[in-house]
Order: sequence, then C-alpha cells, then structure tokens
Amino acid sequence: MEINAWLVFWAALVTAIACGLGALPFFFVREFPRRWVGILGGMAGGLMLGASFSLIYEGLASDLPLLTAGVVAGVVVIHLLNQRIKHDRGETIQALRQSAGVKTLMILAVMTIHSFAEGIGLGVAYGGGESLGNLITAAIAIQNIPEGLAIALIMVPLGTSPLRAAWWAIVSSLPQPLMAVPAFLLVTLFEPFLPFGLGLAAGAMLWMVIAELLPDALKDTSREMLGVVVTLSLAAMIAFQALLG
Ligand SMILES: [Zn+2]
Repeated sequence: MEINAWLVFWAALVTAIACGLGALPFFFVREFPRRWVGILGGMAGGLMLGASFSLIYEGLASDLPLLTAGVVAGVVVIHLLNQRIKHDRGETIQALRQSAGVKTLMILAVMTIHSFAEGIGLGVAYGGGESLGNLITAAIAIQNIPEGLAIALIMVPLGTSPLRAAWWAIVSSLPQPLMAVPAFLLVTLFEPFLPFGLGLAAGAMLWMVIAELLPDALKDTSREMLGVVVTLSLAAMIAFQALLG
C-alpha cells in the first residue's frame, strides 16, 4: 500500500486511542498495584529507546552529518518547549477533572511536548518507509497505554468514571496526529529533511525517555527492577524489528 498523509493520520490516531486503553483496568477494579505502574512505565521507556535507535539507524543509511544535526536540534527544541510549558503531570490531571473548554486547551498545550516527540517520530518514520512507520506506530501505541493508565490512576479514585478517564486520556494524545502529518509531508516533499527529521525525532524521544518516562517509573519501582525491564523491552523491540525485516 502506498503511504499517504491519511495513512499517517490514522496511524497516529490509533496511537492516541491506545492511550485510552490505559483506563481499561478501572472498569473492573478500583485500585491498581503501584509496583506494576512502575514496571509498565519502564517497559514504555524501553520501547521508546528502541524506537529512537530505529530512527537513528534509518538515518545512518542516508546522511550522517544531517542526522547528527537533527539529534542536536531535537534536544534543543524539546528542551526549549519544556522550559516554556512547565510540565507537571499532577496539575494536568487536576485540570482534566474540571474539564471545561478552556481547560481542554490548557491540557493540550501541556501535552504538546509529549505529542511533539511522538507525533514527529511517527511522521518521519513513515517518511523512511512503511515498515519503519509501522514499527514506530506499534511502539508508540503500546507505550501510550501506561500513559493512559497513569491518567486514570489519578482521576478514577477522585470520582471520575473510567469511561471519562479513557476519553481524557485519548484527548491528551490528540495533538499527535496533528504533529505527525506535517512531519511526514515535510520529509517526503523535501527529501534532504529525512535524515534531519529522523535525528530530530530520535533526539526529542531520547530526551523524553530520560527526563520523563524513566524518572516517573522510578517513583513506583526500584532502580534494579527498572534496569531489567528497560533492557528487556529494548531487546523485545530489536527482535520485533528483525522479525519485521
Ligand atoms: Zn506517549
């Protein structure tokens, strides 16, 4: 199948919907063991590490200087974005509970950092080919499930219904398709942008893993356990990529 902007849009939408799956356990239980939250968070980190490496690997095949410049640009951009929007999960989820129209916009703004990295990663990956695109889509979708879980974990005990929590988890990821399509079009229409874009997404995603995902996971699990889970998830990602060819 030929890759077009619609395919990229739908793929990114699927990853956003996957975020809502994180609320699923709360349709059956009221509590979720914190230990597992940390382990799932570590798995998410390992998958995103693997996804970053896949993007870098793809970029190596075309242009090393542009790829390297992209990685540097990715870190700079995401760091600057983060400085502007102070990223506090607690505050975001507080705002989610109030759920007025203005609040929605605020939440989307706060989630921009996350969606920036993931949306661009998905878009440029499809620029690198369908199998790379599918691989990155799968990694991001799976990684979004613990993210939705983290949202539901706070909202549900405070009285939000699981369905509503799932909805807000999806809404928090909606900027992803909006970032993915322009990123895809840019690297497809201007081919020299591809290695740069692959580097940019990898740099931003690496930053996110190290500055956000892993420290978050450490709140609920030990460093030793996190090391094991992250490394095994990375291994699974490598195997998965080899199987895809
Ligand atoms: Zn995510």
